[in-house]
Amino acid sequence: MSKQTHSFQAEVQQILHLVTHSLYSNKEIFLRELVSNASDACDKLRYEALDNPALYEESPNLEIRVFFDAQAKTLTIRDNGIGMSAEEAAAHLGTIAKSGTRDFMAKLSGDQKKDANLIGQFGVGFYSGFIVADRITVESRRAGLPADQAVRWSSEGTGEYELETISRGERGTDVILHLRDEEAEFLSTWRLKAIISKYSDHISLPILMKKETWDAEAAQQVVTDEWETVNKAAALWARAKSDITDAEYQDFYKQISYDSDPPLAYTHNRVEGRSEYTQLLYIPSKAPFDLWNRDKRGGVKLYVKRVFIMDDAEALMPVYLRFVKGVIDSADLPLNVSRELLQESRDVKVIRDGSAKRVLSMLEGLADSDNADDKAKYQQFWNAFGAVLKEGLGEDFANQERIAKLLRFASTHADEGVSLADYVARMKEGQEAIYVITADSLAAAKNSPQLEIFRKKGIEVLLLTDRVDEWMLSHLHEFEGHALQSVAKGAVDLGKLQDEAEKKAAEEAAETFKPVLERLKEALKDRAKDVRVTSRLVDSPACVVVEEGDMSAHLARLLKQAGQAAPEARPILEVNPEHALVKRLADDPRFDDLAQILFDQALLAEGGQLDDPAAYVQRVTRLLVPAA
Ligand code: ADP
Repeated sequence: MSKQTHSFQAEVQQILHLVTHSLYSNKEIFLRELVSNASDACDKLRYEALDNPALYEESPNLEIRVFFDAQAKTLTIRDNGIGMSAEEAAAHLGTIAKSGTRDFMAKLSGDQKKDANLIGQFGVGFYSGFIVADRITVESRRAGLPADQAVRWSSEGTGEYELETISRGERGTDVILHLRDEEAEFLSTWRLKAIISKYSDHISLPILMKKETWDAEAAQQVVTDEWETVNKAAALWARAKSDITDAEYQDFYKQISYDSDPPLAYTHNRVEGRSEYTQLLYIPSKAPFDLWNRDKRGGVKLYVKRVFIMDDAEALMPVYLRFVKGVIDSADLPLNVSRELLQESRDVKVIRDGSAKRVLSMLEGLADSDNADDKAKYQQFWNAFGAVLKEGLGEDFANQERIAKLLRFASTHADEGVSLADYVARMKEGQEAIYVITADSLAAAKNSPQLEIFRKKGIEVLLLTDRVDEWMLSHLHEFEGHALQSVAKGAVDLGKLQDEAEKKAAEEAAETFKPVLERLKEALKDRAKDVRVTSRLVDSPACVVVEEGDMSAHLARLLKQAGQAAPEARPILEVNPEHALVKRLADDPRFDDLAQILFDQALLAEGGQLDDPAAYVQRVTRLLVPAA
């Protein structure tokens, strides 16, 4: 193939523009990205060679070399990994296969440091070379292809790139950066070594650079032809815990997560027994942008005996712990394990169970700690990931009790941080149930009329406002023998919390109120399933509730918003016979209007929507302006 010119895909052009313009203040990251690509290419070779050892050709030792030519102002990153065919070079370096590009662009914050971290997450790493180079030439031969089928890809990082066939003996890839004039700082062994040890120390392949010595005659450092390894080239997790400093753990987290904030906690263990493996797991301190995507694969990398197998090995961690980042290195799994095999492997199940337990212990360590710092960290964790952890109540039955203890809520007593154990410890004498209310927002929950009697009696109610809470309630029925009871469902049964006098008064009120109830039922027969007297209310005239087994109005709304069919459960209207408005109902000539208004207002107070808001407004207007 003679030289051909191609245009970049439009998205690539956008990325190129963004990368070169927005990441300039953190330009050294280009080296991290290119070294990481080189290391991935070596991993891929090792993986393909499992089935086809001939791919190693004459050079079985995988390595990365970084060298420069000060005269020509070029910096080269060379690997003897898998390499690229011409088609692959066009596909991988001319288009962006991943759909995340738009997300990436949307996420760019203008904060260069944060944006620089995003680059790696979205896999636009290669283009970061154009931050410092005005031309990049890639020369590559794919392992297994003959020497005369190598490729040269070259571009100035604007609209186009050139592709031509070349001849190349060595397998693998050279990425040659033609540095801009003002980027001469990268033509320095010292500077490059510093960047490599900052970002790429953990790369488990050797990264080689040419040694420098002091030339007394010239009175300067000169580059020799002798190569030396400039990174540690040892997997951190394989080292003994006692030899690893906290700073090294933190650095490693940054390298694997691209998160600029330190993790909240980490755990590093060598597990022996039925299955032998090492785990190094971290809990991030803030949620990634795609936390809610349950299809997103996990954050755990799988290695087998230090050989990288795959990123995002979702089978190693339950879905509800998908925020965990880290590495699992198995001693038992076969090197050629596939994602499908992982799903079925019993060894993997053992690892997953073990990992889930470790993560829960880590969380318990923070949650139950007496140290105020740890407690604050737990609250931070909860704010970022609590809603995800709740999914575990349905997903991980074996650990349900442990997960339940880790839950934190807002309640009528405190705006955050209330555990079920705290709640139980504060229960009133004679109280049996754990009372909860679900609503769209904290304000709606707090002001709900259904809370009135609980507030009057000083009984705590948990305020549940996460979208998953309704779902959670369908999986978490009780805690330490106390049922979770929605205050918006069924009749209020405060049981022993109500004294005899109160019960008697309520029964009497119900009796004398009977004729009015009958009229209300008749007036509302198309809208309310039932109308009854309640002891739930103190200040409000009425509220709506649903029958014990029915779907809560809040959940029905959530389903509707999500475009799903929700069963039409008619609510029950409960009225407060002590309220002035209710008291005068019987004698009011506008009984029918008042009945409808009572019902509409009860719906509104509960966060519901009226089917016919105009009719409601007309009725209220009629009340405000009595007919002449
Ligand atoms: P990512 O590495 O996240 O996929 P990049 O833009 O950095 O995104 O690279 C795009 C693709 O180009 C890689 O996925 C890989 O297929 C290919 N590539 C980049 N560098 C190399 C290399 N040194 N050897 C082989 N393939 C490479």
